[in-house]
Amino acid sequence: MPAGAKSGSRTLGLLRQRGASLVHGLLPRCCALCSLPLAEPADRHSGWCGPCAASLPGVDAPRCPVCAQRTTAWPLPPGEPGATTPGPARPCPACRDAPPPFERTIALADYAPPLDRLVLALKFGHAVALARPLGVALAARIDFPVDLLLPIPLSAPRLAERGFNQAWLIARAIARAHACDSSAGKDLRHDAGVLARVRHDPPQALQALRARAANLRGAFSCQRDLAGLRVAIVDDVMTSGATLAEAARAVRNAGASFVATIVAARTLRD
Ligand SMILES: [Zn+2]
Ligand SMILES: [Zn+2]
Repeated sequence: MPAGAKSGSRTLGLLRQRGASLVHGLLPRCCALCSLPLAEPADRHSGWCGPCAASLPGVDAPRCPVCAQRTTAWPLPPGEPGATTPGPARPCPACRDAPPPFERTIALADYAPPLDRLVLALKFGHAVALARPLGVALAARIDFPVDLLLPIPLSAPRLAERGFNQAWLIARAIARAHACDSSAGKDLRHDAGVLARVRHDPPQALQALRARAANLRGAFSCQRDLAGLRVAIVDDVMTSGATLAEAARAVRNAGASFVATIVAARTLRD
């Protein structure tokens, strides 16, 4: 190898080492939930300690693969063997009767303590670093191919008021965590410029459940052709699912071949 190439590769190696130690130095030192120091490299990567990660509300509960709502029974046809035992996940009765415009949903856990506090701190307390543990945990749960992550956009007035979009922070954290996982095979792109919010609506929480879907009709538009792409729409919380469903319709109208949703937390059914 020529001398120049040799010193060049050594410089590159040194830069990589420095880069790795710099990244390690930026990793969180304390658990996002209990604030105890994180000693293990894997815990520092994820951002929370093992006991906290394992104790998230409903983290291991069986969920509908379509809407991520908790299911207490696996709705197999009456009389079918194994109808009372967990088996391959099947859609919940609501998704079976009226399938939403997305095929899959990944939710980390229920929107309940302490995960709800963490989501609120990210959203309203400007604790933007909390997007990382959410993104790392969600990336590890993606068990289907995805080409593009699209965060649910905020309307321009709300973005100006808050200064950031928590869904974009989570989407970016998912993409970064996915890139760190060598088994993932390829980079997962996230793009905040594809989905646009064309109307500024009152906060969903202030509206009656039935009014939400009607108010959201046509609330999103897609800024590019998504023909043949497998898309996952990212948000912090799924409540009625109306916002994600309306965004999914826009994504599907733009040609996406598969639409999933990824949320940090899922509210329990009323
Ligand atoms: Zn902890
Ligand atoms: Zn469902």
